[in-house]
Amino acid sequence: MSTLVQAGGYNLVFDAGRGAVIRLTQAGIPLGKVDGVFLTHYHSDHVNGLSDMWMTGYIPAFGGRQGDFNVYGPTGVLALVEGLKIAHADDIRVRVADGELKKDTTNIVAHEFPAEGGVVFNQNGVVVTAFKVEHDHHGAIQPALGYRVDYAGRSVVISGDTIPTANVLKCGKGVDLLIHEVAEFQDIHAVQQVYAHHTNPREAGEIFNQTKPKMAVYSHIVNGVSSKIIGIPDEVLIQRTKVNYQGPLVVGRDLMSFLLTPTKIETYTP
Ligand SMILES: [Zn+2]
Ligand SMILES: [Zn+2]
Repeated sequence: MSTLVQAGGYNLVFDAGRGAVIRLTQAGIPLGKVDGVFLTHYHSDHVNGLSDMWMTGYIPAFGGRQGDFNVYGPTGVLALVEGLKIAHADDIRVRVADGELKKDTTNIVAHEFPAEGGVVFNQNGVVVTAFKVEHDHHGAIQPALGYRVDYAGRSVVISGDTIPTANVLKCGKGVDLLIHEVAEFQDIHAVQQVYAHHTNPREAGEIFNQTKPKMAVYSHIVNGVSSKIIGIPDEVLIQRTKVNYQGPLVVGRDLMSFLLTPTKIETYTP
């Protein structure tokens, strides 16, 4: 799971799950040019590509990063980054000893903020605001946040992993692009546990109906988990959303991108 937002000359990456480095490279983004990674929560599918992004980015041939690798996250990011430093100290040691890279290009810096969120990045007109979401009904999975990015009168909200939550309604009101997670299966009874941690398409439709984004996008699509739990086709996902929402909706795919112009949103499908 990973979403790139480009604004004001910055490359801001939201979550760094498995394969994020491969997709960024396919999208033509040099890893050394990632200006910040913002984590929503610490489930493995959102962080297990982080060390790859950091470490491949400091290899001159691949990333050529100059300066720090900045990781923003709620309480816990300091510990995560300290752990990565310990885990991978030998990679840096041998590459520096081998003359492959300079030590100061290997810096990784944690920017930790409270679990309640707030403005976490504010540079050259690009404002990133983190907001608290609910990843489960019991508050077991905390911290858990979503993000809103504002720049030049345009805005994107990324829900993070969440059940329907009031803060998405608040922060997503009238936003240009509302990127929301979704979960749906053929047999809903087989996956009550999953349902209890995510938003189903009928609920998402209600959220889109209330926030009225210029465009709604599904990402982090939990749709079939194994051969035993069968997913549903995109058309059915859309159909079930339409019960509550008839506005613009796109089912996201890897490498799909959206250009927010002052007048419209253009969608590019790879
Ligand atoms: Zn999660
Ligand atoms: Zn997840």
